[in-house]
Amino acid sequence: MADNDCLFCRIAAGEIPARVAYEDNDVFAFHDVSPQAPTHVLIIPRRHIRSAAELSAEDGPLLGGMLAAATRIAEQEGVAGSGYRLVTNVGKAAGQSVDHLHVHLLGGRSLSWPPG
Ligand code: AMP
Repeated sequence: MADNDCLFCRIAAGEIPARVAYEDNDVFAFHDVSPQAPTHVLIIPRRHIRSAAELSAEDGPLLGGMLAAATRIAEQEGVAGSGYRLVTNVGKAAGQSVDHLHVHLLGGRSLSWPPG
């Protein structure tokens, strides 16, 4: 179910503009408004899930769809060959600022490890 008060639900519903990178029945992806790398796309489920901590085994197909979308987006954005990072922040200490599950796809530059 979508949550009317959720920014990312509203983006996926087309109520708030975003640069769309990919969409299907269950998954939506759009370019981050404040990119941290030349390619920075957010991949979200259309369903309102607050974070990865809310996932259960039944969400396996949904997660598979999100990761398959990431593969397509990386190819589409030209970073599949050079490499890219997929990351999802859970909770305050990790820096989660929007309470709707999102996987960041970052690429187009060298990414240091460990992250800050
Ligand atoms: P996180 O800090 O992991 O919760 O990531 C949230 C991300 O959402 C940040 O990278 C923000 O720049 C991004 N963001 C916030 N508002 C928007 C928006 N309206 N359109 C696109 N990206 C957004």
